[in-house]
Amino acid sequence: MSLIREDDVISSVAAALQFISYFHTPDFIRAMGRAYEIEQSPAARDAIAQILTNSRLCAEGHRPICQDTGIVVVFVKVGMHVRWEAKLTLDAMINEGVRRAYLDPDNKLRASIVADPAFKRVNTRDNTPAVIHTEFVSGERLEITVAAKGGGSENKAKFAMLNPSDSVADWVLEMVPEMGAGWCPPGMLGVGIGGSAEKAMLLAKQSLMEPIDIADLRARGPSSTLEELRLEIYERVNALGIGAQGLGGLTTVLDVKILDYPTHAASLPVAVIPNCAATRHLHFTLDGSGPARLEAPNLNLWPNVHWTADASARRVQLDGLTREQIASWRPGERLLLSGKLLTGRDAAHKRICALLDAGEPLPAGLDFRGRVIYYVGPVDPVKHEIVGPAGPTTANRMDRFTETMLSKAGLLAMVGKAERGPDTVAAIARHRSAYLIAVGGAAFLVSNAIRASRVVAFPELGMEAVYEFEVRDMPVTVAVSSDGVSLHDTGPKVWRGRFAGIPVTSV
Ligand code: SF4
Repeated sequence: MSLIREDDVISSVAAALQFISYFHTPDFIRAMGRAYEIEQSPAARDAIAQILTNSRLCAEGHRPICQDTGIVVVFVKVGMHVRWEAKLTLDAMINEGVRRAYLDPDNKLRASIVADPAFKRVNTRDNTPAVIHTEFVSGERLEITVAAKGGGSENKAKFAMLNPSDSVADWVLEMVPEMGAGWCPPGMLGVGIGGSAEKAMLLAKQSLMEPIDIADLRARGPSSTLEELRLEIYERVNALGIGAQGLGGLTTVLDVKILDYPTHAASLPVAVIPNCAATRHLHFTLDGSGPARLEAPNLNLWPNVHWTADASARRVQLDGLTREQIASWRPGERLLLSGKLLTGRDAAHKRICALLDAGEPLPAGLDFRGRVIYYVGPVDPVKHEIVGPAGPTTANRMDRFTETMLSKAGLLAMVGKAERGPDTVAAIARHRSAYLIAVGGAAFLVSNAIRASRVVAFPELGMEAVYEFEVRDMPVTVAVSSDGVSLHDTGPKVWRGRFAGIPVTSV
Protein backbone atom coordinates (compact mmCIF):
# COMPACT_ATOMS: atom_id res chain seq x y z
CA MET A 1 0.00 0.00 0.00
CA SER A 2 1.55 3.38 -1.03
CA LEU A 3 1.89 6.17 1.49
CA ILE A 4 1.38 9.48 -0.34
CA ARG A 5 2.84 12.48 1.46
CA GLU A 6 1.34 15.95 1.40
CA ASP A 7 4.67 17.60 0.54
CA ASP A 8 5.17 15.30 -2.44
CA VAL A 9 1.78 16.25 -3.89
CA ILE A 10 2.36 19.98 -3.36
CA SER A 11 5.91 20.09 -4.69
CA SER A 12 5.06 17.85 -7.68
CA VAL A 13 2.09 19.99 -8.73
CA ALA A 14 4.20 23.16 -8.35
CA ALA A 15 7.09 21.68 -10.35
CA ALA A 16 4.76 20.40 -13.06
CA LEU A 17 3.12 23.83 -13.50
CA GLN A 18 6.48 25.54 -13.73
CA PHE A 19 7.62 22.87 -16.22
CA ILE A 20 4.66 23.28 -18.57
CA SER A 21 4.88 27.08 -18.44
CA TYR A 22 8.11 26.90 -20.48
CA PHE A 23 8.30 23.42 -22.11
CA HIS A 24 5.98 22.44 -24.91
CA THR A 25 5.42 18.68 -25.10
CA PRO A 26 7.65 16.79 -27.59
CA ASP A 27 4.64 15.67 -29.67
CA PHE A 28 3.50 19.30 -30.00
CA ILE A 29 6.96 20.50 -31.09
CA ARG A 30 7.21 17.76 -33.73
CA ALA A 31 3.70 18.43 -35.05
CA MET A 32 4.30 22.19 -35.20
CA GLY A 33 7.63 21.56 -36.98
CA ARG A 34 5.79 19.46 -39.56
CA ALA A 35 3.17 22.22 -39.97
CA TYR A 36 6.01 24.67 -40.66
CA GLU A 37 7.50 22.36 -43.29
CA ILE A 38 4.28 21.99 -45.27
CA GLU A 39 2.92 25.53 -44.85
CA GLN A 40 2.72 27.50 -48.10
CA SER A 41 0.94 30.64 -46.92
CA PRO A 42 3.69 33.19 -46.16
CA ALA A 43 1.77 34.88 -43.32
CA ALA A 44 0.92 31.56 -41.64
CA ARG A 45 4.46 30.23 -42.11
CA ASP A 46 5.87 33.36 -40.49
CA ALA A 47 3.46 32.92 -37.55
CA ILE A 48 4.47 29.27 -37.09
CA ALA A 49 8.15 30.27 -37.26
CA GLN A 50 7.51 32.75 -34.45
CA ILE A 51 5.69 30.13 -32.37
CA LEU A 52 8.56 27.63 -32.79
CA THR A 53 11.26 30.20 -32.10
CA ASN A 54 9.35 31.42 -29.05
CA SER A 55 8.99 27.83 -27.87
CA ARG A 56 12.74 27.24 -28.02
CA LEU A 57 13.56 30.56 -26.33
CA CYS A 58 11.18 29.70 -23.49
CA ALA A 59 12.68 26.23 -23.09
CA GLU A 60 16.16 27.76 -22.91
CA GLY A 61 15.23 30.69 -20.68
CA HIS A 62 12.63 28.97 -18.47
CA ARG A 63 10.09 31.74 -19.07
CA PRO A 64 6.41 31.33 -20.01
CA ILE A 65 5.43 30.37 -23.55
CA CYS A 66 2.53 32.79 -23.33
CA GLN A 67 1.65 35.80 -21.20
CA ASP A 68 -1.63 34.04 -20.39
CA THR A 69 -0.29 31.32 -18.11
CA GLY A 70 -3.74 29.86 -17.89
CA ILE A 71 -6.38 28.54 -15.56
CA VAL A 72 -5.11 25.36 -13.91
CA VAL A 73 -7.12 22.23 -14.63
CA VAL A 74 -6.17 19.04 -12.80
CA PHE A 75 -7.33 15.48 -13.39
CA VAL A 76 -6.57 13.19 -10.46
CA LYS A 77 -6.93 9.42 -10.29
CA VAL A 78 -6.70 8.15 -6.72
CA GLY A 79 -5.93 4.46 -6.28
CA MET A 80 -8.41 2.84 -3.86
CA HIS A 81 -5.49 1.48 -1.81
CA VAL A 82 -3.62 4.75 -1.41
CA ARG A 83 -2.86 5.81 2.16
CA TRP A 84 -2.19 9.43 3.08
CA GLU A 85 0.28 11.25 5.27
CA ALA A 86 -1.43 14.61 5.00
CA LYS A 87 -3.25 17.24 6.99
CA LEU A 88 -4.68 19.11 4.00
CA THR A 89 -7.45 17.84 1.74
CA LEU A 90 -6.43 16.74 -1.73
CA ASP A 91 -7.86 19.94 -3.26
CA ALA A 92 -5.99 22.07 -0.72
CA MET A 93 -2.71 20.28 -1.51
CA ILE A 94 -3.21 20.88 -5.23
CA ASN A 95 -4.07 24.54 -4.68
CA GLU A 96 -0.99 25.00 -2.52
CA GLY A 97 1.04 23.59 -5.43
CA VAL A 98 -0.63 26.08 -7.79
CA ARG A 99 0.12 28.94 -5.40
CA ARG A 100 3.81 28.01 -5.14
CA ALA A 101 4.18 27.62 -8.89
CA TYR A 102 2.55 30.94 -9.80
CA LEU A 103 4.43 32.91 -7.15
CA ASP A 104 7.83 31.33 -7.85
CA PRO A 105 10.19 34.36 -7.88
CA ASP A 106 12.48 32.80 -10.52
CA ASN A 107 9.68 32.41 -13.02
CA LYS A 108 6.66 34.28 -11.76
CA LEU A 109 3.55 33.32 -13.71
CA ARG A 110 0.62 35.59 -14.42
CA ALA A 111 -2.23 35.32 -11.93
CA SER A 112 -5.35 35.42 -14.10
CA ILE A 113 -8.07 33.98 -11.86
CA VAL A 114 -10.82 36.28 -10.61
CA ALA A 115 -13.29 35.49 -7.82
CA ASP A 116 -16.90 36.69 -7.86
CA PRO A 117 -16.91 36.23 -11.65
CA ALA A 118 -20.34 37.74 -12.30
CA PHE A 119 -19.71 40.94 -10.34
CA LYS A 120 -16.52 42.22 -8.73
CA ARG A 121 -14.10 39.94 -10.58
CA VAL A 122 -11.37 40.29 -7.97
CA ASN A 123 -8.02 38.73 -8.84
CA THR A 124 -7.11 35.99 -6.34
CA ARG A 125 -3.44 36.96 -6.92
CA ASP A 126 -1.99 33.42 -6.86
CA ASN A 127 -4.02 31.83 -9.68
CA THR A 128 -5.98 29.64 -7.27
CA PRO A 129 -8.30 27.86 -7.18
CA ALA A 130 -7.61 25.18 -9.76
CA VAL A 131 -10.45 23.29 -11.43
CA ILE A 132 -10.02 19.77 -10.06
CA HIS A 133 -11.61 16.54 -11.28
CA THR A 134 -11.07 13.52 -9.03
CA GLU A 135 -11.78 9.91 -9.81
CA PHE A 136 -11.20 6.78 -7.74
CA VAL A 137 -9.59 3.88 -9.55
CA SER A 138 -8.13 0.52 -8.60
CA GLY A 139 -4.51 0.33 -7.46
CA GLU A 140 -2.28 2.12 -4.97
CA ARG A 141 -0.95 5.06 -6.91
CA LEU A 142 -1.91 8.67 -7.40
CA GLU A 143 -2.01 9.80 -11.02
CA ILE A 144 -2.15 13.52 -11.72
CA THR A 145 -2.49 15.39 -15.00
CA VAL A 146 -2.03 19.15 -14.77
CA ALA A 147 -2.93 21.56 -17.52
CA ALA A 148 -2.78 25.34 -17.81
CA LYS A 149 -5.50 26.41 -20.21
CA GLY A 150 -5.36 29.82 -21.88
CA GLY A 151 -8.46 31.99 -21.67
CA GLY A 152 -8.43 32.73 -25.42
CA SER A 153 -8.89 29.07 -26.30
CA GLU A 154 -11.15 28.21 -23.38
CA ASN A 155 -13.50 31.03 -24.43
CA LYS A 156 -14.15 29.24 -27.73
CA ALA A 157 -15.56 26.04 -26.18
CA LYS A 158 -18.86 24.94 -27.74
CA PHE A 159 -21.58 22.59 -26.65
CA ALA A 160 -24.76 21.32 -28.29
CA MET A 161 -27.48 18.78 -27.72
CA LEU A 162 -27.78 17.32 -31.19
CA ASN A 163 -30.52 15.06 -32.43
CA PRO A 164 -29.33 11.44 -32.39
CA SER A 165 -29.50 11.39 -36.21
CA ASP A 166 -27.34 14.52 -36.62
CA SER A 167 -23.74 14.39 -37.83
CA VAL A 168 -21.10 15.21 -35.20
CA ALA A 169 -18.56 16.07 -37.91
CA ASP A 170 -20.96 18.52 -39.60
CA TRP A 171 -21.60 20.24 -36.26
CA VAL A 172 -17.87 20.59 -35.50
CA LEU A 173 -17.34 21.98 -39.01
CA GLU A 174 -20.03 24.56 -38.32
CA MET A 175 -18.48 25.53 -34.98
CA VAL A 176 -14.83 25.98 -35.99
CA PRO A 177 -15.35 29.04 -38.26
CA GLU A 178 -17.51 30.54 -35.48
CA MET A 179 -14.56 30.22 -33.09
CA GLY A 180 -12.57 32.69 -35.18
CA ALA A 181 -8.84 32.89 -34.45
CA GLY A 182 -8.99 33.91 -30.79
CA TRP A 183 -7.97 30.38 -29.80
CA CYS A 184 -4.56 30.90 -31.46
CA PRO A 185 -4.43 28.11 -34.01
CA PRO A 186 -2.67 25.87 -34.94
CA GLY A 187 -3.67 23.71 -32.02
CA MET A 188 -5.88 20.78 -31.20
CA LEU A 189 -9.59 20.12 -31.01
CA GLY A 190 -10.94 18.00 -28.18
CA VAL A 191 -14.35 16.48 -28.86
CA GLY A 192 -16.56 14.89 -26.21
CA ILE A 193 -19.55 12.82 -27.32
CA GLY A 194 -22.27 11.37 -25.11
CA GLY A 195 -23.01 11.16 -21.39
CA SER A 196 -24.88 14.22 -20.18
CA ALA A 197 -24.30 17.92 -20.87
CA GLU A 198 -21.49 18.29 -18.31
CA LYS A 199 -19.98 14.90 -19.12
CA ALA A 200 -19.56 15.80 -22.80
CA MET A 201 -17.65 18.97 -21.83
CA LEU A 202 -15.45 17.03 -19.45
CA LEU A 203 -14.69 14.39 -22.09
CA ALA A 204 -13.70 17.09 -24.57
CA LYS A 205 -11.28 18.63 -22.06
CA GLN A 206 -9.89 15.27 -21.02
CA SER A 207 -9.25 14.25 -24.61
CA LEU A 208 -6.85 17.20 -24.99
CA MET A 209 -4.50 15.60 -22.45
CA GLU A 210 -3.58 12.91 -25.00
CA PRO A 211 -0.44 13.27 -27.16
CA ILE A 212 -0.67 14.41 -30.78
CA ASP A 213 -0.53 11.28 -32.98
CA ILE A 214 -2.77 11.94 -35.99
CA ALA A 215 0.12 11.31 -38.39
CA ASP A 216 0.49 7.78 -36.98
CA LEU A 217 -3.26 7.27 -37.37
CA ARG A 218 -3.14 8.45 -40.97
CA ALA A 219 -0.22 6.13 -41.65
CA ARG A 220 -1.80 2.99 -40.14
CA GLY A 221 -5.41 3.76 -41.04
CA PRO A 222 -8.42 3.93 -38.71
CA SER A 223 -9.43 0.83 -36.76
CA SER A 224 -12.66 2.16 -35.24
CA THR A 225 -15.49 4.50 -36.13
CA LEU A 226 -14.16 7.06 -33.64
CA GLU A 227 -10.79 7.04 -35.40
CA GLU A 228 -12.57 7.49 -38.73
CA LEU A 229 -14.37 10.47 -37.23
CA ARG A 230 -11.08 11.94 -35.96
CA LEU A 231 -9.61 11.76 -39.44
CA GLU A 232 -12.73 13.15 -41.09
CA ILE A 233 -12.83 16.18 -38.76
CA TYR A 234 -9.06 16.74 -39.06
CA GLU A 235 -9.16 16.76 -42.88
CA ARG A 236 -12.30 18.85 -43.18
CA VAL A 237 -11.25 21.46 -40.61
CA ASN A 238 -7.85 21.93 -42.22
CA ALA A 239 -9.54 22.21 -45.63
CA LEU A 240 -11.35 25.31 -44.30
CA GLY A 241 -8.05 27.16 -44.86
CA ILE A 242 -8.24 29.11 -41.57
CA GLY A 243 -4.55 28.50 -40.89
CA ALA A 244 -2.16 29.77 -38.22
CA GLN A 245 -3.67 32.73 -36.33
CA GLY A 246 -6.58 32.69 -38.81
CA LEU A 247 -4.41 34.29 -41.51
CA GLY A 248 -5.23 31.64 -44.11
CA GLY A 249 -3.09 28.53 -44.46
CA LEU A 250 -2.87 24.78 -44.55
CA THR A 251 -2.75 23.86 -40.86
CA THR A 252 -5.51 24.91 -38.49
CA VAL A 253 -5.48 21.80 -36.33
CA LEU A 254 -2.52 19.57 -35.48
CA ASP A 255 -4.80 16.81 -34.19
CA VAL A 256 -8.40 16.03 -33.27
CA LYS A 257 -9.04 14.00 -30.12
CA ILE A 258 -12.34 12.32 -29.27
CA LEU A 259 -13.64 10.61 -26.14
CA ASP A 260 -17.13 9.18 -25.86
CA TYR A 261 -19.46 7.78 -23.18
CA PRO A 262 -22.86 6.06 -23.27
CA THR A 263 -25.78 8.47 -23.35
CA HIS A 264 -29.60 8.63 -23.20
CA ALA A 265 -31.44 7.20 -26.23
CA ALA A 266 -33.05 10.60 -26.84
CA SER A 267 -29.79 12.59 -26.68
CA LEU A 268 -26.55 13.27 -28.52
CA PRO A 269 -24.59 15.71 -26.33
CA VAL A 270 -21.48 17.00 -28.09
CA ALA A 271 -18.76 19.39 -26.95
CA VAL A 272 -15.70 20.77 -28.69
CA ILE A 273 -12.88 22.58 -26.90
CA PRO A 274 -9.83 23.92 -28.72
CA ASN A 275 -6.32 23.88 -27.30
CA CYS A 276 -4.06 26.67 -28.52
CA ALA A 277 -0.48 27.24 -29.63
CA ALA A 278 0.35 27.27 -25.91
CA THR A 279 -0.80 23.69 -25.35
CA ARG A 280 0.40 22.88 -21.82
CA HIS A 281 -0.17 19.66 -19.92
CA LEU A 282 1.80 17.02 -18.04
CA HIS A 283 1.01 13.67 -16.50
CA PHE A 284 2.87 12.15 -13.54
CA THR A 285 2.38 9.41 -10.99
CA LEU A 286 3.14 9.32 -7.28
CA ASP A 287 3.72 5.90 -5.71
CA GLY A 288 5.01 6.91 -2.29
CA SER A 289 8.66 6.99 -3.33
CA GLY A 290 8.90 10.82 -3.37
CA PRO A 291 7.93 13.73 -5.61
CA ALA A 292 7.56 13.37 -9.37
CA ARG A 293 10.77 13.37 -11.37
CA LEU A 294 10.30 15.55 -14.45
CA GLU A 295 12.70 15.18 -17.32
CA ALA A 296 13.43 18.27 -19.38
CA PRO A 297 13.15 17.72 -23.14
CA ASN A 298 16.34 17.66 -25.19
CA LEU A 299 16.78 20.96 -27.03
CA ASN A 300 17.66 18.99 -30.19
CA LEU A 301 13.97 18.20 -30.40
CA TRP A 302 13.16 21.68 -31.70
CA PRO A 303 13.32 22.01 -35.49
CA ASN A 304 15.94 24.24 -36.99
CA VAL A 305 13.62 27.24 -37.26
CA HIS A 306 14.89 30.57 -36.01
CA TRP A 307 12.61 33.53 -36.70
CA THR A 308 14.46 36.82 -37.16
CA ALA A 309 13.35 40.30 -38.17
CA ASP A 310 14.17 40.03 -41.87
CA ALA A 311 14.63 42.71 -44.47
CA SER A 312 11.44 41.83 -46.37
CA ALA A 313 9.26 43.31 -43.60
CA ARG A 314 8.51 47.04 -43.64
CA ARG A 315 10.06 49.01 -40.80
CA VAL A 316 7.61 51.46 -39.20
CA GLN A 317 8.51 54.31 -36.86
CA LEU A 318 5.61 54.76 -34.43
CA ASP A 319 6.62 58.18 -33.13
CA GLY A 320 5.14 60.68 -35.57
CA LEU A 321 3.16 58.01 -37.47
CA THR A 322 0.62 59.56 -39.89
CA ARG A 323 -2.66 58.43 -41.45
CA GLU A 324 -0.99 58.70 -44.88
CA GLN A 325 1.61 56.13 -43.81
CA ILE A 326 -1.07 53.85 -42.39
CA ALA A 327 -3.00 54.07 -45.67
CA SER A 328 -0.04 52.52 -47.49
CA TRP A 329 -0.11 49.30 -45.39
CA ARG A 330 -1.58 46.31 -47.25
CA PRO A 331 -3.46 43.36 -45.68
CA GLY A 332 -1.00 40.55 -44.92
CA GLU A 333 2.01 42.86 -45.03
CA ARG A 334 4.55 42.20 -42.27
CA LEU A 335 5.69 45.24 -40.30
CA LEU A 336 8.41 45.78 -37.70
CA LEU A 337 7.32 48.45 -35.25
CA SER A 338 9.76 50.73 -33.44
CA GLY A 339 8.97 53.57 -31.05
CA LYS A 340 6.36 54.07 -28.36
CA LEU A 341 3.11 52.11 -27.95
CA LEU A 342 0.42 52.45 -25.31
CA THR A 343 -1.17 49.29 -23.91
CA GLY A 344 -4.62 48.51 -22.60
CA ARG A 345 -7.16 45.72 -22.38
CA ASP A 346 -10.69 45.16 -21.08
CA ALA A 347 -10.61 46.89 -17.68
CA ALA A 348 -8.66 49.96 -18.88
CA HIS A 349 -10.89 50.35 -21.96
CA LYS A 350 -13.98 50.24 -19.81
CA ARG A 351 -12.68 53.05 -17.60
CA ILE A 352 -11.32 55.17 -20.45
CA CYS A 353 -14.53 54.97 -22.48
CA ALA A 354 -16.69 55.70 -19.42
CA LEU A 355 -14.67 58.90 -18.87
CA LEU A 356 -14.82 59.90 -22.53
CA ASP A 357 -18.55 59.19 -22.83
CA ALA A 358 -19.18 61.28 -19.70
CA GLY A 359 -17.13 64.12 -21.19
CA GLU A 360 -14.56 63.87 -18.41
CA PRO A 361 -10.79 64.13 -18.86
CA LEU A 362 -8.51 61.10 -18.96
CA PRO A 363 -5.99 60.66 -16.12
CA ALA A 364 -3.03 63.04 -16.30
CA GLY A 365 -0.45 61.90 -18.83
CA LEU A 366 -2.80 59.55 -20.71
CA ASP A 367 -3.27 60.78 -24.27
CA PHE A 368 -4.12 58.48 -27.18
CA ARG A 369 -4.02 61.14 -29.89
CA GLY A 370 -1.77 59.96 -32.72
CA ARG A 371 -0.87 56.79 -30.79
CA VAL A 372 -1.07 53.05 -31.41
CA ILE A 373 -2.47 50.76 -28.70
CA TYR A 374 -1.34 47.20 -27.98
CA TYR A 375 -3.90 44.91 -26.34
CA VAL A 376 -1.75 43.06 -23.80
CA GLY A 377 -1.56 42.02 -20.16
CA PRO A 378 2.10 41.09 -19.60
CA VAL A 379 3.67 38.71 -17.12
CA ASP A 380 5.66 40.48 -14.37
CA PRO A 381 9.37 40.79 -15.18
CA VAL A 382 12.02 38.76 -13.32
CA LYS A 383 15.72 39.46 -12.88
CA HIS A 384 17.02 41.72 -15.68
CA GLU A 385 13.81 41.72 -17.77
CA ILE A 386 12.06 44.98 -18.72
CA VAL A 387 8.76 43.17 -19.02
CA GLY A 388 7.80 39.50 -18.86
CA PRO A 389 6.26 37.63 -21.81
CA ALA A 390 3.86 40.05 -23.48
CA GLY A 391 1.89 38.56 -26.34
CA PRO A 392 -1.39 39.96 -27.66
CA THR A 393 -4.81 39.33 -26.19
CA THR A 394 -7.98 38.69 -28.21
CA ALA A 395 -8.91 41.99 -29.86
CA ASN A 396 -12.61 41.51 -30.45
CA ARG A 397 -13.25 41.89 -26.71
CA MET A 398 -12.28 45.52 -27.31
CA ASP A 399 -14.67 45.91 -30.30
CA ARG A 400 -17.36 47.60 -28.21
CA PHE A 401 -14.89 50.34 -27.26
CA THR A 402 -13.23 50.88 -30.63
CA GLU A 403 -15.50 53.56 -32.10
CA THR A 404 -15.07 55.67 -28.95
CA MET A 405 -11.30 55.11 -28.91
CA LEU A 406 -11.00 56.15 -32.56
CA SER A 407 -13.47 59.05 -32.57
CA LYS A 408 -13.08 60.51 -29.08
CA ALA A 409 -9.64 59.41 -27.84
CA GLY A 410 -7.92 60.04 -31.18
CA LEU A 411 -6.31 56.60 -31.40
CA LEU A 412 -4.50 55.91 -34.71
CA ALA A 413 -4.24 52.11 -34.87
CA MET A 414 -4.44 48.91 -32.79
CA VAL A 415 -2.39 45.75 -32.23
CA GLY A 416 -3.96 42.55 -30.90
CA LYS A 417 -4.76 39.02 -31.98
CA ALA A 418 -7.56 37.38 -33.96
CA GLU A 419 -10.30 38.89 -36.10
CA ARG A 420 -12.39 42.04 -35.51
CA GLY A 421 -16.17 42.17 -35.85
CA PRO A 422 -17.82 43.73 -38.92
CA ASP A 423 -18.78 46.94 -37.09
CA THR A 424 -15.19 47.43 -35.96
CA VAL A 425 -13.83 46.78 -39.44
CA ALA A 426 -16.27 49.43 -40.71
CA ALA A 427 -15.11 51.85 -37.97
CA ILE A 428 -11.48 51.21 -38.95
CA ALA A 429 -12.30 52.12 -42.57
CA ARG A 430 -14.33 55.17 -41.52
CA HIS A 431 -11.48 56.55 -39.43
CA ARG A 432 -8.73 55.46 -41.85
CA SER A 433 -7.20 53.47 -39.00
CA ALA A 434 -5.67 49.97 -39.14
CA TYR A 435 -5.57 46.82 -37.07
CA LEU A 436 -2.37 44.80 -36.77
CA ILE A 437 -1.88 41.38 -35.23
CA ALA A 438 0.99 39.99 -33.23
CA VAL A 439 1.27 36.21 -32.91
CA GLY A 440 -0.62 34.61 -30.02
CA GLY A 441 1.68 32.02 -28.47
CA ALA A 442 4.88 33.95 -29.24
CA ALA A 443 4.82 36.12 -26.11
CA PHE A 444 8.45 35.75 -25.02
CA LEU A 445 9.68 36.53 -28.53
CA VAL A 446 7.50 39.66 -28.62
CA SER A 447 8.73 40.77 -25.19
CA ASN A 448 12.30 40.71 -26.51
CA ALA A 449 11.30 43.64 -28.74
CA ILE A 450 10.27 45.75 -25.72
CA ARG A 451 13.15 48.00 -24.66
CA ALA A 452 11.44 50.16 -22.01
CA SER A 453 8.21 50.09 -20.04
CA ARG A 454 6.44 52.42 -17.64
CA VAL A 455 2.97 52.54 -16.14
CA VAL A 456 0.97 55.51 -17.46
CA ALA A 457 -2.44 55.05 -15.85
CA PHE A 458 -4.51 52.79 -13.58
CA PRO A 459 -1.59 51.10 -11.72
CA GLU A 460 -4.15 49.44 -9.43
CA LEU A 461 -5.24 47.28 -12.37
CA GLY A 462 -1.95 45.35 -12.26
CA MET A 463 -1.33 43.58 -15.57
CA GLU A 464 -4.40 45.42 -16.96
CA ALA A 465 -2.89 48.87 -16.27
CA VAL A 466 -2.03 51.17 -19.19
CA TYR A 467 1.70 50.97 -19.89
CA GLU A 468 3.86 52.76 -22.40
CA PHE A 469 6.22 50.34 -24.13
CA GLU A 470 9.17 51.41 -26.20
CA VAL A 471 9.67 48.71 -28.82
CA ARG A 472 12.26 47.96 -31.45
CA ASP A 473 11.36 45.79 -34.45
CA MET A 474 8.23 44.33 -32.91
CA PRO A 475 6.80 41.89 -35.50
CA VAL A 476 3.17 42.39 -36.56
CA THR A 477 1.04 41.65 -39.62
CA VAL A 478 -1.56 44.00 -41.12
CA ALA A 479 -4.90 42.29 -40.42
CA VAL A 480 -7.30 45.13 -41.32
CA SER A 481 -6.07 47.83 -43.68
CA SER A 482 -7.30 51.41 -43.61
CA ASP A 483 -9.77 50.70 -46.42
CA GLY A 484 -11.45 48.00 -44.32
CA VAL A 485 -10.07 44.84 -45.94
CA SER A 486 -9.74 42.09 -43.32
CA LEU A 487 -7.13 39.39 -43.78
CA HIS A 488 -9.20 37.12 -41.53
CA ASP A 489 -11.88 37.20 -44.28
CA THR A 490 -9.69 37.10 -47.36
CA GLY A 491 -6.92 34.74 -46.11
CA PRO A 492 -9.02 31.64 -45.40
CA LYS A 493 -10.91 32.10 -48.71
CA VAL A 494 -7.64 31.93 -50.62
CA TRP A 495 -6.39 28.85 -48.76
CA ARG A 496 -9.70 26.97 -48.45
CA GLY A 497 -9.39 23.54 -49.98
CA ARG A 498 -5.67 23.66 -50.67
CA PHE A 499 -4.96 21.23 -47.80
CA ALA A 500 -6.35 18.31 -49.82
CA GLY A 501 -3.63 16.06 -51.15
CA ILE A 502 -0.82 17.46 -49.00
CA PRO A 503 0.80 14.45 -47.34
CA VAL A 504 1.41 14.38 -43.60
CA THR A 505 4.42 12.19 -42.94
CA SER A 506 5.27 10.53 -39.65
CA VAL A 507 6.08 12.87 -36.78
S1 SF4 B 1 -1.60 30.99 -27.16
FE1 SF4 B 1 -3.39 32.34 -27.35
S2 SF4 B 1 -5.14 31.24 -26.49
FE2 SF4 B 1 -3.24 30.22 -25.83
S3 SF4 B 1 -2.81 31.06 -23.85
FE3 SF4 B 1 -1.67 32.26 -25.31
S4 SF4 B 1 -2.99 34.00 -25.90
FE4 SF4 B 1 -4.26 32.47 -24.84
